[in-house]
Amino acid sequence: ETIGASLDAAIARFGDREALVDMASGRRWTYTEFGRAVDEVARGLMAKGVGKGDRVGIWAINCPEWVLVQYAAARIGAIMVNINPAYRVHELRYVLDQAGVQVLVSSIEHKTSDYRRMVEQVRADCKALRDVVYIGDPTWDGLVRAGAAVAPERLAARQAQLSCDDPVNIQYTSGTTGFPKGATLSHHNILNNGFFVGELINYTERDRICVPVPFYHCFGMVMGNLAATSHGACVVIPAPSFDPVATLHAVERERCTSLYGVPTMFIAELNLPDFATYDLSTLRTGIMAGSPCPVEVMRRVVAEMHMAEVAIAYGMTETSPVSTQTRVDDDLERRTATVGRVMPHIEVKVVDPATGVTLPRGEAGELCTRGYSVMLGYWEQPERTAEVIDAARWMHTGDLAVLREDGYVQIVGRIKDMIIRGGENVYPREIEEFLYSHPKIADVQVVGVPDEKYGEEIAACVILRDPANPLTRDELARFCRGRLAHYKVPRYLRVVESFPMTVSGKVRKVELRDEVARALA
Ligand code: ATP
Ligand code: MG
Repeated sequence: ETIGASLDAAIARFGDREALVDMASGRRWTYTEFGRAVDEVARGLMAKGVGKGDRVGIWAINCPEWVLVQYAAARIGAIMVNINPAYRVHELRYVLDQAGVQVLVSSIEHKTSDYRRMVEQVRADCKALRDVVYIGDPTWDGLVRAGAAVAPERLAARQAQLSCDDPVNIQYTSGTTGFPKGATLSHHNILNNGFFVGELINYTERDRICVPVPFYHCFGMVMGNLAATSHGACVVIPAPSFDPVATLHAVERERCTSLYGVPTMFIAELNLPDFATYDLSTLRTGIMAGSPCPVEVMRRVVAEMHMAEVAIAYGMTETSPVSTQTRVDDDLERRTATVGRVMPHIEVKVVDPATGVTLPRGEAGELCTRGYSVMLGYWEQPERTAEVIDAARWMHTGDLAVLREDGYVQIVGRIKDMIIRGGENVYPREIEEFLYSHPKIADVQVVGVPDEKYGEEIAACVILRDPANPLTRDELARFCRGRLAHYKVPRYLRVVESFPMTVSGKVRKVELRDEVARALA
């Protein structure tokens, strides 16, 4: 099934139910209205000459038009290219060129980003780019108006030509470990993944999902939008970019049943001074993904945010994204120590990263996944694709994991983040989890820095709960003594105000590591 056909089925079944709510503008759409708005945009894109397989870029903050473009592009067989709203000119130029974007839909401006100025700056350099439409400006109205000239039958005929194996999306990875890569994904890849993510948390047309994570990332557009529309649920957009106050406000006002976020977002919400004043009693579930969740945070999410059925999901852009997920009745142990078990119709194995030999359960190695969810490949980068997908179609994730006896997967860390100190493999995650229990520490990241004697030494970067109440290296060492193997005790302590983050809410460890190494040098 294609995404367009799936949306048609949802409109037929759930026509009067709400599909989309935008808190910033107060606009809301039922499934019927949403379908009509999608078709207007789809016909508008056809009027602009967008053909099957053409690339439509979207460079925008979270807004309803983002979602309309997602479904409109899918309906006409275009390949939508998601562009990270945090990009700057050189990254924008790279993506527009690399993906050969012909029509770009862009925000005008938001906070410190002047999108229009940046687009106009690169426009002349991008050979494929013929047209730019700005959301909230006459060019957007022009797009919709132009669509009126395209007969609805032409749109229906176009949709009928599409196959579920056609590419529908080029999604760039978060860029946590380096320059982002464009994963090319088909209707079959992401529609099925969105559907199963929703199945495992029992979504129905009664669910209302608060989505504060960016749409440009698979978390928002697949686990949010596609999981919702494939179950007749409603997506609530709390704000154009993450804002903890707006998020809790949206949950309360719109009586949301589900809330998404990466752990740092939940931490920000829980730490709001007036957190206790929000009525979050309608929540029952949600998804936390993207990076490891500290145990204490999970405990509070379940107890204080009422999310007893919250799921932990693990995956990567290249696999549509989710490969493993916890189930609604899993206990706290499984929700905090593991990332769940394999999704339906997907396989996982753990291999020795050096030899590729499959390891017995319980041993740490590289996690590999296989199934319908594995991307078609990196867009126009066959060599890079061949580095991660082997001849038997296994995706090599670059993540270190343990497959437990009970079938649940534990993520130990990224191969790239592993610290090798004096020949011992040290996983930052384990030390972070331990340091997180220190009362003065609000958030912590552990990285390796070059060291003459040991090859690498361990540095802890800490955000303090109260900057007026400092933490010393000695105090930290005392706290670790007897509770952490001596070679895992951080040699260096750095107090920082924030970590370098990706917009999808992940800490850019490579950047942080370089910063710390520079500061120590
Ligand atoms: P890049 O590939 O550009 O460096 P990225 O890997 O962060 O960036 P994504 O595809 O957004 O880009 O993220 C996938 C990665 O996120 C996984 O490979 C894994 O390292 C991490 N991850 C995802 N979910 C979880 C989770 N639940 N727990 C721990 N890590 C997770
Ligand atoms: Mg990656």
